Amino acid sequence: ETRIERHHYDVVVIGAGGAGLRAAIEARLAGKKTAIISKSLFGKAHTVMAEGGAAAAMGNVNSRDNWQVHYRDTMRGGKFLNNFRMAELHAKESPQRIWELETYGALFDRTKDGKISQRNFGGHEYPRLAHVGDRTGLELIRTLQQKIVSLQQEDMQEFGNYEARIKVFAETTITELLLDGDRVAGAFGYYRESGEFILFEAPAVVLATGGVGRSYKVTSNSWEYTGDGHALALRAGATLINMEFLQFHPTGMVWPPSVKGILVTESVRGDGGVLKNSDGKRFMFDYVPDVFRKQYADNEAEADRWYTDPDNNRRPPELLPRDEVARAINSEVKAGRGTPAGGVYLDIASRLPAEEIRRRLPSMYHQFKELADVDITKEPMEVGPTCHYVMGGVEVDPDSGAAAGTVRGLFAAGEVSGGMHGSNRLGGNSLSDLLVFGKRAGGHAASYAEQLTSRPAVPVAAVEAAVETALAPLQRDTGESPYALQRDLQAVMGDLVGIIRRQSELEDAMGRLAELRERVAKVSAAGGRRYNPGWHLALDLRNMLVVSECTAKAALERQESRGGHTREDFPKMEPKWRRVNLVCSLDGDKVHLAHKPLPKMRPELIALFDRAELAKYLTDEELAEFDALAE
Ligand code: FAD
Repeated sequence: ETRIERHHYDVVVIGAGGAGLRAAIEARLAGKKTAIISKSLFGKAHTVMAEGGAAAAMGNVNSRDNWQVHYRDTMRGGKFLNNFRMAELHAKESPQRIWELETYGALFDRTKDGKISQRNFGGHEYPRLAHVGDRTGLELIRTLQQKIVSLQQEDMQEFGNYEARIKVFAETTITELLLDGDRVAGAFGYYRESGEFILFEAPAVVLATGGVGRSYKVTSNSWEYTGDGHALALRAGATLINMEFLQFHPTGMVWPPSVKGILVTESVRGDGGVLKNSDGKRFMFDYVPDVFRKQYADNEAEADRWYTDPDNNRRPPELLPRDEVARAINSEVKAGRGTPAGGVYLDIASRLPAEEIRRRLPSMYHQFKELADVDITKEPMEVGPTCHYVMGGVEVDPDSGAAAGTVRGLFAAGEVSGGMHGSNRLGGNSLSDLLVFGKRAGGHAASYAEQLTSRPAVPVAAVEAAVETALAPLQRDTGESPYALQRDLQAVMGDLVGIIRRQSELEDAMGRLAELRERVAKVSAAGGRRYNPGWHLALDLRNMLVVSECTAKAALERQESRGGHTREDFPKMEPKWRRVNLVCSLDGDKVHLAHKPLPKMRPELIALFDRAELAKYLTDEELAEFDALAE
C-alpha cells in the first residue's frame, strides 16, 4: 500500500506566481479554505524575474492615456486575434489592480510629483509600465506574499492557526487532476524532496502554472516551465487555443553559451538602447511593416527626438512589437550581418551616461558583468531571439476564467490561459494580466465551490492510476534517460517549430514527435524517490510532449504569418485566418485540432479604430458589417 498524504480544501491553486497568488488571495477573502502549490521554492516563479513592469493605463506620465488607448495597443500587438473581452477587461481593470497593490504595501518608482512612474515599452502608445527599477516582478511577488502573510495573521487571531484558511505547499509538483465524472474533485502530486505522494481533495482548482519554454533549448524560461498546467487541463477534458503562437523575445543573451537565452529586458530599448548590425548600422528602420508605418519613425533624428518629445514625433522602430523585432534580428543574422556569436548588438553605452544606466538598469548591469564580463556602460551587448512566452493556453470564459471543454470546477489564469494576448503579447501586459485575471479566477472558483449542493468525490481508481503513472519511470530499467529525451525534444522544437516555420519541416516535426511519444512512454529514471530530478523530468516530459504536439499541429494548420507564428511559405497575414481560433483537445492520447470562430468584437469596441486600420486586419465581409454599423 502506497502512503498518500490527504488534504481537504475548497479551492486549490496550482502555481505561486502572480496569477496564483492573486487568485489565492481572492479565494481566501471570499472565506474559502485555500491551498497554494508551487513546484519550486515559494517566491521563485517567472513573475519574480519580470523586469520591465506592469502595463496599466493610469495616465500618470501622459494624461492622454486611458483604457481605450491601451485596448487598441493590445489588439494591435496581438494582430486582432485577441479575445476582445479579455483585452477589454484587462485594459479597464489594470489600473485598479496596480493601485490595490499599493494598498497591500507595494512601492513603485515615482514621478516628480509623487505619482506611480510609468515607462515606455514596445507597442504601448504612451509611457504605461508601472515599475520598480528593472525588478518589478520581485516587488509584485513580495507584496502578494506579504498580503498572504497578513491574511494568515488574521486567521491566527480568529482560529488560533496561521494556516486555517490559506496554506502554501512549496516544492510540490502536481502530476494529475482528479475528476468525479465531469467535475474536478482534486489534484495529485508529490513532494519533490521526499518523493512522497500528496492528494488534495477540492471541488475547485485554479491553474496558474505559467509557460512552456523548456521545450526549447534557447529560452528565457527556467526549469519548471514544462507546460504542466496546459497538459493537466487537456487531460482533464479542457481545451487549449492559439498554441501555435509562441513569443520569441528579440533580446536574449547569446554569449557565453552557458547563459544563452537569458533575458535582456526590453527596458534597455524603452530607455533609449538601439540595435545595430556588424556594419554598425541601426537596422530596424528597414523593418517597419506597413501596418505600423504611421506610428513609427523612418529616420534616426525623429526617432531620437521621440524620447523627449513623444507628442510631436513618431516612435523609434526598436520599439515595434516583439515579433517584428525578433524577425528583423533573425534576418540580419541570416544575411551575414550578425555578431561572431550569432546575434546583433544592443547599444545603451553610447546613448546614456554610465550612472544613468546603472540607476535605471541595475539588474542588467550586474547580469552582463557577472555572466559575460561585459560592462554595458562601456560596450554594447550581444543579443538574439529567445523563446520567452506562450500566447496560447487554456481556453477560458473571459469573465470568470472557467475552463472551456467538458470539465467543471477548473479555472485558469496568467500565462497558462489563452486568448488575452492574441497572436503576440505586448511587454508589460503579462504582469497586469496576472493581477486582473488572477483575481477574477480566484473569485469565481470560490463562488463555484460555494454554490455546489454536493461535493465531488475522488474516485479510488483515479488515485491508483495516478500513483501507477508516477512510479512507472522508476520501475523500468530498460528505457531511455529523460535528459536524452528532453534534448531530442528541444532539438525538434528549436529546429523545426522555431521562429520561422515551413510546411515540410512542420510535417517532419510531427513525425519526430510521434516517435518521441513512443520513447517517452518508456522513459526510465535511475534511483529512488528521494530528491530525484531525473524522475521529476521523466514525469514532466509527457507534459512537454503533448503541449509540443499541440504547437506543431496548430503551426502546420495555420497557413499565414501573424504575431508569434511565422510561415516562410505563407508570409502574409490573411484576414480569413484572423477569424479562426485553433482549438486543441485530447481524444484518448491523440491531439485533436478544430477550427472555432473568434468571438465578435462588440460595436462600441470596433468603433475605437479607424476604418483604414481595420481594413488591414478584417475580411471584406467583416468590413461590410462595420460600414453598415457606421451608417
Ligand atoms: P509564473 O510566475 O510563471 O508561476 C508559475 C507557478 O506555477 C510557479 O510557482 C511554478 O512553480 C508553478 N508550477 C508550474 N507547474 C507546476 C506543477 N506541475 N505543480 C505545481 N506547481 C507548478 N512580463 C511582463 O509583463 N513584464 C515584464 O517585465 C516581464 N519580464 C519577464 C522576464 C523574464 C526573464 C521572464 C521569464 C518573463 C517575463 N515576463 C514579463 C513574463 C511574465 O513574467 C510571466 O508571463 C508571468 O510572470 C507568468 O506568471 P504566472 O503567474 O502565470 O506564472
